[in-house]
Amino acid sequence: SFTAVVLDNVDGKPKGLFRELTLADLTDHEVLVEVAYSTLNYKDGLAFTGKGRIARRTPVIAGADLAGTVISSRVPDWKPGDRVVVNGFGMTETEGGGYTRYQRVKPEWLLRLPDGFSLEQAMAIGTAGYTAALSVLALEDWGKIEVGSGEVLVTGAGGGVGSIAVSLLASRGYNVTAGTGRPEVQEYLRGLGASAFVTREELAEKANPLQKERWTGAVDSVGSSVLANVLAQTVYGGGVAACGLAGGADLPTTVMPFILRGVTLLGIDSVMTPMPKRVRAWEFLDKVLNRDHLAAMTTVEPMSNLPALAEAILAGQTRGRVVIDVTK
Ligand code: NAP
Repeated sequence: SFTAVVLDNVDGKPKGLFRELTLADLTDHEVLVEVAYSTLNYKDGLAFTGKGRIARRTPVIAGADLAGTVISSRVPDWKPGDRVVVNGFGMTETEGGGYTRYQRVKPEWLLRLPDGFSLEQAMAIGTAGYTAALSVLALEDWGKIEVGSGEVLVTGAGGGVGSIAVSLLASRGYNVTAGTGRPEVQEYLRGLGASAFVTREELAEKANPLQKERWTGAVDSVGSSVLANVLAQTVYGGGVAACGLAGGADLPTTVMPFILRGVTLLGIDSVMTPMPKRVRAWEFLDKVLNRDHLAAMTTVEPMSNLPALAEAILAGQTRGRVVIDVTK
């Protein structure tokens, strides 16, 4: 048997519980993976504590990410020894996730880990990092951000998505401004390549739907009034990649930034992203992500610490990325 974190009903609400499982408890998907690491994402905090409605069936194994090695496969595309990553595809919602030593997954969910990453680095990236990559690629495809001119903003910069977005954008050569509610993470963010800062309060103040034009592009992991102000401060024709809701799921804005400045809101979903786009994002990470930055933003924690870690990420107290060692 092995230990897993299962979301199951406690007083009518799904919450994280440590359970001893056997292989017979796993869904009968085609590929059996020995999991080395999972991660802690904001969504995992919501799922574990029951503060967000994440599990849509119970019991379900928690953890939105996994990295590990194929042990056996009923399809020819995957062979024992293949190093693989799975992000999303309903893991921790309707499908079993990564907080477990073993998991069975569908072949079409698996991504072959680029040789340039270890399994630990794969999970230092995890859903948050791959979402940051999707966001940066969306901005580059949009075409307004330029190397060496203008400012690109990242909100929630001290978090997982934010830290990796800052690092990727800086490595590409853009001038990165970091929006953070924690003055104590500024030096850390400077180390990842941020060259200017804006406080959470400045970004959250209720203000006009059109303000002084400042950002050529932005990666927003916060939502709510912060995103409304970011849109109001985006330059004519600029784009904002919206990927998160750490500050709230509402968006108190007007159509003004869209119809008077031609600003575009680029929606970013990581969970159901088709495989070719995932492969492109991981290739981009392999090429662009500074491995020293990645190490600086990562802490590795035992799975047994999840109760405290889940509360900490929801309280905005974790910095960068947290890798979960599922063997401990
Ligand atoms: P995280 O590590 O907790 O980062 C969130 C950051 O947002 C915090 O570190 C904090 O940064 C800031 N923040 C926290 N609470 C806030 C509040 N009440 N008001 C304003 N700012 C606040 O979480 P993550 O894993 O990076 O995820 C970030 C967001 O992206 C989450 O909402 C998550 O659900 C979402 N996400 C979406 C997708 C997708 O598929 N679209 C994928 C991954 C993540 P500072 O302290 O620096 O201000």
